[in-house]
Amino acid sequence: QDSEPWRDFNRSQVYTADLESALHYLLRVELAAHSMLEGEKLKVFKDFVTLVSKLYPGGGSVVKLMETLSDWLLSLPLQRIPYQAVLDLVNNKMRIAGVFLGEELRWVGCQGSRPGLRGYPCSLWTLFHVLTVQHDAMPNALDNTGLEVEAAPVLQVMRHYIRTFFGCQECGQHFEQAVAAGIHEVKSPGEQILWLWNQHNRVNARLAGSLSDDPLFPKAQWPSPSLCASCHEEQNGVHVWNLDNVLHFLRHHYSASNLSPKYSL
Ligand code: FAD
Repeated sequence: QDSEPWRDFNRSQVYTADLESALHYLLRVELAAHSMLEGEKLKVFKDFVTLVSKLYPGGGSVVKLMETLSDWLLSLPLQRIPYQAVLDLVNNKMRIAGVFLGEELRWVGCQGSRPGLRGYPCSLWTLFHVLTVQHDAMPNALDNTGLEVEAAPVLQVMRHYIRTFFGCQECGQHFEQAVAAGIHEVKSPGEQILWLWNQHNRVNARLAGSLSDDPLFPKAQWPSPSLCASCHEEQNGVHVWNLDNVLHFLRHHYSASNLSPKYSL
């Protein structure tokens, strides 16, 4: 039984506690399954850290941590980095420098009605939606980083991260197929936001009613009419999305100004 108290939250907001918990889990749990980072794995991890350091909103402790991690990774001439060295940096060296990441998982918008539901996968989707919206707001933020900046840098980094590190391998395969089939159609930061939204809805449709579905948060097409009425339209009796309004809604929902620090450390 989950002893944590329920945290009241507002579905029309995004919580920094979820984003911080995503990074906590990613750095301290998911990555720990890989004792040595080398070759492609090391490159994928470096690119992820660079992306987050440039696009994570707010400029607080998380950005400092990711910048320090990024500088450190890029300055090392090593081809192989033991995971323990990354952990030591995150846990100890940065603490001395006054930069640290929360020590516990604290799900808010991503809390599940019982343990094992929602949590990390929910927060990872949330993080990448936020990053697509930040990239759209600051299209030059990735200049001179060495990332493939042409059309869809956030999707490229997400694709490589999910394929290489995400614990659910079946999810990685599905996502890889979707990106491989569709990423060439993404030509702008706005299209990148919409592509990820649409792909997430496809996954929602596939998973509706499955075992991973939390009864308190059943998988559904998102945003619901109560979150965004103007996103929904009907044409000849058939539901269609108003994509201009969906993009407008996503730009607001996942923007820095809609992030709530409630429950964050
Ligand atoms: P999630 O789907 O995780 O959504 C989190 C939050 O994002 C929602 O609460 C809502 O606020 C918002 N949201 C919902 N839909 C959208 C949207 N379309 N656009 C923007 N925001 C939205 N699980 C599997 O069993 N099989 C898979 O193949 C699979 N593939 C995955 C691929 C990826 C890349 C990721 C990150 C996860 C995948 N998962 C898969 C996990 C699954 O998608 C859910 O994350 C998990 O079941 C938890 O669901 P949830 O109810 O918290 O909502």
